[in-house]
Amino acid sequence: MRIRAALVVTALAATALAGCSGDSTPLPVTPDRRDAVATVPAPGGSQPAPPACDPRASLRPAGALPAPGDMPPGSYMATIQERGRLILGTSQDTLLFSSRNPFSGRIEGFDVDMGRQVAQAIFGDPDKIQIKVIGYDQRVSSAADGTVDLVADTMTANCERWTDVNFSSVYYEAGQKVLVSKSSTAKSIDDLGGKKICSAAGSTSFDNIGKVRTRPVAVARPAFGDCLVAFQRNEVDGISTDDTILAGMAAQDPYAKVIGRRFTEEPYAMAMGKSNPEFTRFVNAVLERNRADGTWRKTYDKWLGDVGPAPTPPKARYR
Ligand code: GLU
Repeated sequence: MRIRAALVVTALAATALAGCSGDSTPLPVTPDRRDAVATVPAPGGSQPAPPACDPRASLRPAGALPAPGDMPPGSYMATIQERGRLILGTSQDTLLFSSRNPFSGRIEGFDVDMGRQVAQAIFGDPDKIQIKVIGYDQRVSSAADGTVDLVADTMTANCERWTDVNFSSVYYEAGQKVLVSKSSTAKSIDDLGGKKICSAAGSTSFDNIGKVRTRPVAVARPAFGDCLVAFQRNEVDGISTDDTILAGMAAQDPYAKVIGRRFTEEPYAMAMGKSNPEFTRFVNAVLERNRADGTWRKTYDKWLGDVGPAPTPPKARYR
């Protein structure tokens, strides 16, 4: 049964394993620091510690957006405009968010559209974008060192990462779940103690598996496409990651099911270098406009409409 399902994903897995083919550029690996929200000690000891930062709070937009093609001189947006393309870092094997379309060869999905909408705002043309395929463990480093202008890659905004990059306001609220074989009797990740559960190296979910009370065994693979292949070869008992990513896997494997409730909060935001805060404000202005004018909802319906009805877009929070 699993073999047939494996055939369904052969093309996708092949591109995942090919890693840096096509329009990708290999990057040095700098592992993310990815602890969840940092806390400070509570005064007096008995109150719960407040969060040290609000990972969802980004930089407030600075007024109206400039007209496309007319970026303010000296701004980072002007640098991108002069270059003639926005460089977006993302995955190529996250179906629905950023995966290679086997017919067109283009990388597409909800995350890619987030980047294309920023390109549209800078150039008046969403196609003025270059996609660099990066590993999950390269998302922070490639945004921080300017290898890419922007990372949109099912990336959770958390306080640890905020020390190295700026995040946009949140564009999607995800949460971690687990995928198992349809024949499994498990109802949630708690029922998978001692079982091998796969996740991508450098992802927040890998760390979260290790925190589950019943102690599933966390198994790392370079990318989630590799986890799906491992699952279909019976090398692991399940896969745990954001419900968004699991939805893309379940769509490819008729013998898999997603179980349980979300057991984490994963607010997705785009990451950028810290040295150009005007770019973060600009991206947030684009997101504000797209939430208000229905673009966000259309993008949701295009990529995630089969998963369920569009929720209200996440409300922006600013620091
Ligand atoms: N949202 C996660 C992160 O930013 C990626 C998916 C996962 O952790 O499984 O690391």
